[in-house]
Amino acid sequence: MQETDIIFQCTRCGYCCHGETTVSLDEHDRERMCNALGMSSEKVAEKYWRITGNIVQMKVVDGHCIFYSEGCKVHTGRPWRCGEWPLHPSILDDENNFHTIAESCPGIKKELGYDKFCEILATILKKGKRIKC
Ligand code: SF4
Ligand code: SF4
Repeated sequence: MQETDIIFQCTRCGYCCHGETTVSLDEHDRERMCNALGMSSEKVAEKYWRITGNIVQMKVVDGHCIFYSEGCKVHTGRPWRCGEWPLHPSILDDENNFHTIAESCPGIKKELGYDKFCEILATILKKGKRIKC
């Protein structure tokens, strides 16, 4: 069992991909997404992005990210913030963040308790491991 599996197992509930906005994409996210889709940035922007000033987000369709369909359809090209969720470093700073994130993500194994959870999360983050959801 991997360390991430001890503290988190995605239930694929899709909650984190729903809402009226999505995470924003930085320059590297945009490039990675275009490469994953094999499309030019112009085409990807037209089809998938919502651009507001210099903020680039993914379009929202039917209350969820345009790439969501029983999972992420751009998994290898998803934004880094999507890859980071739900094992966010802010959990280590404040127990309230742990409870807030656990409330929105059923994959978080909150039964471990905050201290044990943080001990394992700190090890994972130190190794720079990304979450595979
Ligand atoms: S990361 Fe959490 S909220 Fe998102 S699909 Fe998995 S279990 Fe659901
Ligand atoms: S890019 Fe993928 S993981 Fe991120 S919000 Fe959209 S569907 Fe969810």
